[in-house]
Formats: sequence, C-alpha cells, structure tokens
Amino acid sequence: MITNLTAAELSRQLKDRQLSAIEVAEAFLDRIETTDSNYGAYLLVDRKGALAAAERAQKLIDADASGPLTGVPIAIKDNMSTEGVETTCASKILKGYVPPFDATVVERCKAAGMVMLGKTNLDEFAMGTSTENSAFQLTRNPWDTTRSPGGSSGGSAAAVAAELAPLSLGSDTGGSIRQPAALCGIVGYKPTYGRVSRYGLIAFGSSLDQIGPFARTVEDAALLAETISGHDPLDSTSLAAPPIRPKFDNVNLKGKRVALPKELLADANAPAVTREVEKAIEALRREGVIFEEISLPSIQYGVTTYYIIAPAEASSNLARFDGIRFGPRSEGEGHIGVVERTRAEGFGHEVKSRIMIGTYALSAGYYDAYYLRAQQVRAKMQMEFAEAFHKFDAILSPTSPVTAFKIGELSGDPMALKLLDYCTIPANMGGMPGISLNCGFDDGGLPVGLQLLGAPMEDEKLLEMARGVEQVLRDARRRPPLA
Ligand code: GLN
Repeated sequence: MITNLTAAELSRQLKDRQLSAIEVAEAFLDRIETTDSNYGAYLLVDRKGALAAAERAQKLIDADASGPLTGVPIAIKDNMSTEGVETTCASKILKGYVPPFDATVVERCKAAGMVMLGKTNLDEFAMGTSTENSAFQLTRNPWDTTRSPGGSSGGSAAAVAAELAPLSLGSDTGGSIRQPAALCGIVGYKPTYGRVSRYGLIAFGSSLDQIGPFARTVEDAALLAETISGHDPLDSTSLAAPPIRPKFDNVNLKGKRVALPKELLADANAPAVTREVEKAIEALRREGVIFEEISLPSIQYGVTTYYIIAPAEASSNLARFDGIRFGPRSEGEGHIGVVERTRAEGFGHEVKSRIMIGTYALSAGYYDAYYLRAQQVRAKMQMEFAEAFHKFDAILSPTSPVTAFKIGELSGDPMALKLLDYCTIPANMGGMPGISLNCGFDDGGLPVGLQLLGAPMEDEKLLEMARGVEQVLRDARRRPPLA
C-alpha cells in the first residue's frame, strides 16, 4: 500500500518509476478523504494544489532532476504561512486569512519538489498539550480515537501516525513536536534553535520556537530536516550553519556516553513509561552504551520559568492581531472598540490567559521580579546542560511522563496539562536539539516515547545516535489499528 511506505521508500519507488508522483498524491488525498473524519488531523486539504505540485514533481523526475524528496507528500502545521492557502493557527482571529507568501520552510519543501497535501490542526497559536485548544475541531490519536494525540502539533503527528502523510512539519516551543510524536508512536525532532528558519512561522515564543519534522523513521526525519534547514537571511536568528546532514552508513553506539538526569527519571512518571524506558536503557547498555546518572537541579524550575518567558513573548507577538491587519474584524466603537471586540471574540480562553500572564510579567515593577528572574534561571539551566555535554554525547529521558490520555480527561486541569512538558521544556530553554522516538507500549497498547537531547549544533550527532537507538529498539515499531 502506497500510504504506509516511508518517505525514503516512496522516494526510491518514484525514482525507479515504480510509482508516479500523481499516483502517490492521489493515494494520500483519497485516504484523507475517506478516513480523516476519524482523526481530524487536517484543517484544510488542498487537493488541487497537491495535484498540480505532483505534476511538477513528476516532470522533475522525468528530467532526472529530482532530489531525495521530490514527489513525496507533506502536511504542514497551520501556523506556518502558505502562499494562497488559508493559514489560521486554529484561531478564529485568523479565520479566512490567506498569506501572500510562503514560510521559508514551505518554500524549501516546494523547491525540493515536495507535494503539500494540506494544513494540520493545532492548539490555538500552538498553546497547549492536547490539540483540544483548537477553535475548530478535535484531533484524535490514531492508536485510540478516544484519546488525545498530544499537542500542540497534534494534527501533524496524527497525520503521520494515521498514514495520512508520510512526513509533516510541526513547531516546538516547549515540546509541541516531541510530545505528540511520543503519544502517537512516531519520530519527532526539534532541531537546534536557529538551524531552521522561523520566517513565516506565526510566532508564539520567539526565543523558544523551532520548526521540525515528524516522520515514521529517523532516516525520514533527517531527510526532511536537511531539506528545511540552513541559513536564511530573512530570519535574524538563523544561524550561519550548513543544512543538517547526518551520516547513517556507520552508526555505532558502542562507547557512547549517555547521561540519565535523575530529575527527569522521577517517580512522577507513569509506571509503564518508566518500565519501557528502563527496558530501552538495558537494551542500549547491551550494545555498549555507557550510562551514568547525573543531576541537573535547575530542571525542576523548567515549567515555572517557561510559563513566564513563553507568555511574555506571546503577549508581545500576539499584539499584531487587532482586526485591522489580518483576519476578520468585529464591530466596535472607534479604533479601541474595534480592537477590543476583535480580540475578545477572536481569541480563545487559553490564548487570552497567556496574554494576560505575559503582560503582567512584563509590566513595570513586575519585570524584575518575574521576567528577569526567569531569564536568570534559564541561563543557569543552560550552564548546567553545557557542563553535562562536556562529558556526555546525549541525555536520555522519557519524552512524556504519561501515554496518551483521554480527550477531555485533563482539559479541566490546566496545571496537570502544563506539567506534561516537564521533560521537553529544557531543550527549548537551552536551544538544544531533541528527538523523540518510540521505545515500547504501555499495558493498554499505547506508545511510550523516549527522548534524546544533544548539545546545541550537534544535530547530526544526535540524529546518528537516534538512528542507532531505533535499530536496537526495532521491536518497538508497530502500526496503530488504522481505519
Ligand atoms: N505545551 C506547551 C505550551 O502549552 C508547549 C507548546 C508548544 O511547544 N508549542 O505552551
């Protein structure tokens, strides 16, 4: 079946003329049409655009001018700007907004001959951990459709897990690629901050946001990472570094030193998560990986610090949505009245609460007490991690302390939802690359994710290790019971 092939396999069959790009695009579009009502992964499907892109891709293939992902379909999280295609951030405030330009990542996917299938669901403005904060629809976990796919990139994760796209893009501010990847049993990778352009990504927390791939294998994730990464003059935080290009021919885990921070392997994790991660550690130890338990004490302040810095940046970034420049406008008295009504009606509850927290933390008198202090803790955390990376090749932990939870189970408990990011937030604080891959299943058959963190700029090394880990944990690859 076309739709369960990996991107690498699709690419090979396209090059060998066993499949045509049109055939591949149609297979995914048809599967989305017949089954996405079960998952709600997509907010928008661009059938016409996808078929036109597939035709262009086939021409490149016929002319022997194709690259590694030419003709391979992709789904894009709906907070990345797509020229001529509605981009909403799953918010009423951007309903009907059609960007006049492509985000750099989208442009690079197109230039590589990839075929964009559509835009995927997310928590409104990427604020959330369950995709339940979307203003438009729920997304369901392909392993059990009564459960959440995680978030905020839940649509992109569900699309890949449900074989509604071989690859997708998400964004990760505090874990929004890695956590949904873990809950959906796939690979999710957040590159080093600055290695992938944020130009055209609708900003949430600018110093934390990073775009990255979802895939079913590490190899596929790496192919997409290579396509989207590399310096971009349009993003002032983009690093002058070459594209991410790991070498998978000779992956060897023997002698690799991996740290196990006790703060992340705590009793707070669900017993099945601990059990599966420990099994993975044992399997890796047998391959010659050297593990050592360490302590990174500032991790315990990660969530608290994040919920100062991220809302502070969000409150400033979201000031541009005023009903004048983008999207729909509400009626109101005078300029202030219009802005007030538009924002009152356009933003959902979670977004409003973050704008208020952020504005408060940045206001005169509180700036020093909250924002500045949070930045100091962040610097301390970076120092602790930098020291660990002097000695270790990677840091290992669970990705999420729990497996997929029921839809609605935690929506009344915002604190519980926020604590789910405990293991993922440090990578955003430090700009480090992080990857989540499946390492086993709980007693209910739900996937458990394992997270590897690398030193900033060492994305290639991290991906190479992840590839090695994936090979050792081969048994952890299963398909969900799909519609
Ligand atoms: N769950 C976190 C939040 O709600 C992280 C979201 C993200 O990474 N975009 O802010």
